[in-house]
Amino acid sequence: MSKGNISVQVENIFPIIKKFLYSDHEIFLRELISNAVDATTKVKTLAAKGEVKGELGDTKIEVKIDAAAGTLHIIDQGIGMSEDEVNRYLNQVAFSSAEEFLAKYKDDAAIIGHFGLGFYSAFMVADKVQVITKSYRAEDPAVMWECEGNPEYTLTPAEKTTRGTEIILYINEENKEYLESYRIRELLNKYCKFLPVEIKFGTKTESTWEGEGDEKQEIKTEVDDIINNPNPIWKMKPADLSDDDYREFYRELYPMSEPPLFWIHLNIDYPFNLTGILYFPKLKNNFEIQKNKIQLYSNQVFITDDVKEIVPEFLMLLQGVIDSPDIPLNVSRSYLQSDANVKKINTYISKKVAEKLQSLFKSDRKAYEEKWSEISTFVKYGMISDEKFNEKANAFTLFKNIDGAFATPEEYKEQVKGLQTDKNNKIVYIYTNDKEAQYGYIQAVKDLGYDVLEMDTIIDNHFMQHIEYKGEDVTFVRVDSDTADNIIQKDEVIESVLSQAEQDTIKEIFTGAIQGADAGHIELKAMSPTAQPIVITKPEFMRRMKEMQAMQGMDMNMFPDMYNIQINTNHPLIAEKLLKMRSADKKADFAAYLHDLALLNQGMLSGEALSKFIARSLEFVK
Ligand code: ADP
Repeated sequence: MSKGNISVQVENIFPIIKKFLYSDHEIFLRELISNAVDATTKVKTLAAKGEVKGELGDTKIEVKIDAAAGTLHIIDQGIGMSEDEVNRYLNQVAFSSAEEFLAKYKDDAAIIGHFGLGFYSAFMVADKVQVITKSYRAEDPAVMWECEGNPEYTLTPAEKTTRGTEIILYINEENKEYLESYRIRELLNKYCKFLPVEIKFGTKTESTWEGEGDEKQEIKTEVDDIINNPNPIWKMKPADLSDDDYREFYRELYPMSEPPLFWIHLNIDYPFNLTGILYFPKLKNNFEIQKNKIQLYSNQVFITDDVKEIVPEFLMLLQGVIDSPDIPLNVSRSYLQSDANVKKINTYISKKVAEKLQSLFKSDRKAYEEKWSEISTFVKYGMISDEKFNEKANAFTLFKNIDGAFATPEEYKEQVKGLQTDKNNKIVYIYTNDKEAQYGYIQAVKDLGYDVLEMDTIIDNHFMQHIEYKGEDVTFVRVDSDTADNIIQKDEVIESVLSQAEQDTIKEIFTGAIQGADAGHIELKAMSPTAQPIVITKPEFMRRMKEMQAMQGMDMNMFPDMYNIQINTNHPLIAEKLLKMRSADKKADFAAYLHDLALLNQGMLSGEALSKFIARSLEFVK
């Protein structure tokens, strides 16, 4: 037996390892199993070159718990190590890289994936670690390395006769959870689900039926429980896969979800290496809290599902898997965003997504339109947040009008510019965010031959602003922001049938009658006699300010609910009936009543005001 000291460079790192990333202690298992996979891959490569004597045999990795002994075992049948290699790799290479890693990151917990601590992460959960290993070279005897979480280790001859390495962790008091089978299974499912080498954890019972009719009997057999799928489809060629394979894999990733809308198979090896499958889930209206996130892998090892810094933000709405050994994993998150490879990956993915949407749009526009409500949030979000995507998406983003007809921005402009250009040469897009509530307004503008778009999702406010910002000659106006006649400001004016003096009287009556209401200013306007007598409008600009503030979580009451009252001086109820009334009280009552009617039309009458209105209406009917 030999004893030695691991050459400590800076300080004793063991206490730091124990405390390191306390909440993420669980990654030790991934690190150790990754090593086992590497060792297995290496021996397979050597065998392929004819450098391993005899049959390679079984290469499964086994994980097992010995509850009585308080140990967790990771056993591979990989390349193994000779005494010399243990010295070199465990005492020197692994130790100094762990040391380096800790020196760099011990104060920075936000390291993506926490890859890099390697073999020594075992000491996060174990008081003592034994490594029993035998090299694939028959002549090298087996050795056991043992270390109790301090810089001293021992190396002794071992009994092992088969090729490979067994790591034995003596789990410490604070980490007893890693002796629980459910916990280990959970971790294996999380980190090892798609590792390229079979991983066995315990056994399971499989039953088959033999015989016929009454003779029929169940035969139960114990078989190895393999927890992973070593050949995930993202590693295969798209040409070898069917739609069902993709759907099946989606179910494997997210068993509780509805089937995806469509998917993209990513596969590139230059200038960086990346494979994966991105799925478009069925997204309804709002940004749902994304529980089925994109999973990031590195050579089939699960790293994280927190891919904020790696994937363009709008693509976070997608699901699936990205596998890239070229994403630097042992760096801090803030560094990642500036990493050149990560930037290229971002651009690549966003380009692929745009191409996919473009081809779906081109190949079957009708089917694309049918899916639009489920992908529109995604596309709009992408356009707002990613310039390059925006450029491409102009060709496949859609406006939908209230009659359910779709048009690309370009098509739409052509369609409406004739009627809907205002006196400043702006093309006015009229929209509703609530078909029901704004019904009256919609009818009024439709009567004038205008088109009304439906913009009723949470992202639409931003999206319209974005379109306005990008296309200088376009402006959006909500259908209730002005009177129908005035919503597109033209040069021609309608003549008033009243004299100036009569108009002044009207204004006085209303000002007196609706004192105390939250109305903004009262405006007299000569409209068509068939338009409403009074129209409540919410000026576009003020309303948008308020909406923006609400989105940013600001106090909604900072601005009052601004609305304007426009009185149609050409309407017979105003121009004739009201003016001709004798008593001042009657006039005031009637004016207030018309005002309430207009509020009612806008859905703005409630509570006490509504009760009073009904009481007053009953009076009138009498
Ligand atoms: P890394 O895996 O990043 O190289 P580690 O600290 O995890 O760093 O391991 C250091 C080295 O120890 C490995 O590169 C490998 O040579 C050796 N090693 C670790 N685990 C095994 C194993 N199960 N079988 C064979 N060699 C191993």
